[in-house]
This record gives sequence, structure tokens and C-alpha cells, in this order.
Amino acid sequence: MSGSNQNLRFKTIRDGVPADELFNKEGLTYNDFIILPGFIDFGAADVNISGQFTKKVRLHVPVVSSPMDTITENEMAKSMALMGGLGILHNNCSVARQVEMVKSVKAYRNGFISRPKCVPPTAPISEIIRINEAKGISGIIVTANGDPHGKLLGIVCSKDIDYVKDKTRQVAEVMTKREVMTVEKAPIRLEEAMDVLNRSRHGYLPILNEADEVVYLCSRRDAVRARQFPHSTLDKTGRLVCAAATSTRDEDKQRVTALAAAGVDILVLDSSQGNTVYQIAFIKWVKSTFPHVEVVAGNVVTQDQAKNLIDAGADGIRVGMGSGSICITQEVLACGRPQGTAVYSVGRYCASRGIPTTADGGLRTVGDICKALAIGANVAMLGGMLSGTSETPGEFFFRDGVRLKVYRGMGSLEAMSQGKESGKRYLSENEAVQVAQGVSGHVVDKGSVLKLLAYVAKGLQQSAQDIGEMSFDAVREKMYEGQVLFNRRSATAQNEGGVHSLHSYDKKLYAAKL
Ligand code: 5GP
Repeated sequence: MSGSNQNLRFKTIRDGVPADELFNKEGLTYNDFIILPGFIDFGAADVNISGQFTKKVRLHVPVVSSPMDTITENEMAKSMALMGGLGILHNNCSVARQVEMVKSVKAYRNGFISRPKCVPPTAPISEIIRINEAKGISGIIVTANGDPHGKLLGIVCSKDIDYVKDKTRQVAEVMTKREVMTVEKAPIRLEEAMDVLNRSRHGYLPILNEADEVVYLCSRRDAVRARQFPHSTLDKTGRLVCAAATSTRDEDKQRVTALAAAGVDILVLDSSQGNTVYQIAFIKWVKSTFPHVEVVAGNVVTQDQAKNLIDAGADGIRVGMGSGSICITQEVLACGRPQGTAVYSVGRYCASRGIPTTADGGLRTVGDICKALAIGANVAMLGGMLSGTSETPGEFFFRDGVRLKVYRGMGSLEAMSQGKESGKRYLSENEAVQVAQGVSGHVVDKGSVLKLLAYVAKGLQQSAQDIGEMSFDAVREKMYEGQVLFNRRSATAQNEGGVHSLHSYDKKLYAAKL
């Protein structure tokens, strides 16, 4: 055979197809395709997996927990934000309860405490005890005039007063004096202040101006949290970012007003079909009333739906209808879209408008999250994957020797009978006949979400490395240029991609030394 004929015969064919070809014909979901590997010339630890959740908030770990009443209350929200993700507080509860959760998240980690609790030197010790008990604060600064920004004289900590019998004595007699405290002069960066605290043996670090007046206070407890969780999702003042869900009826304006007063940073409008007059009007109202609060709107699965919400002012778009693990919307209402195609299509449109996309529902493995991020999502929202972790609401119980917790859809009859907000998600809160769009079930104990998220983050780094890119932003850029290639997977290929041909096995997903 001549050389030229041979070249013709073995003409290079393209491996796989670009995303637009993969998704342009049929509705696909994560299991239906696989990403082809690229070239590796860097370590997995060098991969930056961070992703944009809203116009302003970027997450070190691009994962958020779903606003479901069996997934995200304050414990989950704190843990997610500490790890560099974010938890969305559910709203299937009273306004007061949701506000309490927002306050608990915002108070968990202070950066610079800008109005520290404070007394004048003449205050009795009993006043310190009262503040300790009411606010749970173990150190209170003493200033000349009792003002939080007055001239610093000293600090009183619980250990200074524990053994003092006469509680009418003045704090000036027991306080640690200004001269023997570690203080710093403003301006100082938060990380530097936390470093000083980490090195010092003191519980608090006052930061003073030239006139020795208090500007800020930093606490050891917060410094320890900063050291333990260096990638936490923080606001400008060093507190955890807090996001909360709301419905979009007129009466919900009162809820949003209370959440904003409590310090919420992001509102997630919770609706299974977000392309409504209610949601459009609500986005406009929030953006004009609380311009500093960002709004993630949804859910949508088409570009037209996304357009309406972005035009109204949304800062992020949540994608998914009927793909959740506890969800029966597609079965009952015949409406929705396969999640892979929805994420690709909406993600592409949102990217063209500069708005980040969150892929919500149907993510069962780290691999699914990688696929969602590779085909257009900036962030992944998890319900089922986080269910059964210790930080979810609800108690564990044993059945047949297995430790279980409840995980239920917000459109299940159980959730809708507990709170009206859950029914609003499906636009059915006042209906005489409630049509279930979700189920309630049980999941096994998955341990702490802190370890689970560390595993997810590592898995994402290794996935981007296999694809040959140093960040998921780069993966998406190359994907839109047609340089990241995919293969459709047949049913047997899917079978091959899982464990097979074994008599029995243990599926242990990770070992984390944390
Ligand atoms: P998962 O991560 O469990 O697959 O999906 C969680 C997502 O399913 C949630 O974030 C939410 O968008 C959606 N969802 C929650 N409850 C229900 C429900 O009862 N019905 C439907 N249709 N979707 C639900």
C-alpha cells in the first residue's frame, strides 16, 4: 500500500463531539455522557475550582446546599460557608425562625467587631456578668466613657471575675490594663489581625487609632475559626455570607424586610417554575428596596425563562425542573427538562449575559458535579448528596440496624402540610386538592458535611486535571470554543462505567483525615 493511500485510510477523525452537538438533538442528563480527557502538565492541587454564585459572591468550593427543610438550617449553613461553599436557609418556617437562623449564621464568625460590647471603668462587676449571660461574650472592653469607640483602658474577661465575691466592685479594679494587653494600630488587614491573635496568648485584640480609641475588636475564637477554615465564604467585614430562601408573594415582602434587617446577603427565590409575574415583580421590588441584597432567581430550564428573570434584575439563575432525587414533577405534570440539556442551554444563555448559573437537582456523585460545571453551571446545588449528614435538621433513628434520617421533597405532602411556604413553591398553597410533586424518604447516615465537602473539593480538582484545565472557568471557556469534547454513553457504556462483574464489594467513597 502506498504511503498516501495509507494516510487516506487512517485520516484523523475527531474524538467525541463538542457540547453544542451533544445537546442539540435530545434531552440528556449527566449519566448520558462522559467528558474526554485532555493533557496534564500540572498537579491536581494547583486546580482552582472556585465558582461564581451571584454577580458578587464567589465560592471557593462551588457547591451550595438546597433550601429544603431536611437539608439547610443554621448548622448546615455555617458548615457550608466555613468550608467555602454556601447554605441556603429554607423558608418552610415562621419569619421569626428564619430570622433567628440568619442571625445565628452572621454571628458565628466575626471579623472585625465594629461595635464591641463595652463598659466604663466605674461599672460594677455584676454588669459584666449580665452581659456575659445575655450575649455569651467572655471579654468586654473598658473605655474611658463607656462608648465602644472611646479611649481604651483595659478588658475584663470571665477569668478576671470568677473568684471575686463582691460583685458591686468596679471593673477598674479587676480589668487587665491597656499597658499589658496586645493592641494594634489601625489600619490593619483582617488576616494580619488574626495572625497576631493566633500568636498571642490573649483572647481579644483591640485595634486602636492614633488617639488610643477603639476602632475594632478581634476575638481569638474567630481567629481559631479563620485558621481552621481558611477558605470560608465571607462578607466584607469577615462574617460568614448568609443566603436564605423566600417565596414571591406580596406577603413575603415582610419576610424579606426582616431577613434584610437581620443581615442576609443573598435571597434565593424558591419556585419550581420561576418564570412568573410574581417572581418578575418581586425581583424588581427587592432590587429597588434592598439594592445591597443579591437575588438568585428560578427555577428555570429554558433560555426564554432565564431571559425574563435576568431582564428583571436577577444576580444569579437556578436551573432545574423535575430532576431532584425526591421529585415527581415530570411524572405528575409532564413538564420539566432533562437536567444536562437544561444546564447546557440555560448556562450558555446566562454566560452570554454575564450571569452565573446554579445547577440544581439530580446530582448524585462528584462526577455529576464535574459534568454540571463542565457543561455550563458555575455552581452546583445539592439536596440528596448532603442528606443524612450530621448537620442536616432532624434526628437520626435506627431501622433494621441502619442509622437513618428523613429526606423529603418540598413538594411532598408531608412538607406542604407543615408550612404554607412549601406549597407556594408549587403555586398551590391555597388549593383544596394538594398535588404532590415530591416524596418523603429515608437516607443513611453520611457523617459530617465538613468531610464530605473536603472530598467533593478534592474530586473536583482531580476531575479538572483529567480534563486538562486548571480551573472550571477554563473548562467552560474551552467547552464553548468546542475544545472540550464529549461522548454520548449507551446504556451498556453506562453499565461499564460503574462497578461490574464482582460477586460482592464495599463501596467506600473517601478517607479524610480532618
Ligand atoms: P437532589 O439534590 O436531591 O437531587 O435535588 C434537590 C432539588 O430538588 C432541590 O434543590 C429543589 O430544586 C428540588 N426539589 C426539592 N423538593 C422537591 C419536590 O418535592 N419536588 C420537586 N419537583 N423538586 C423538589
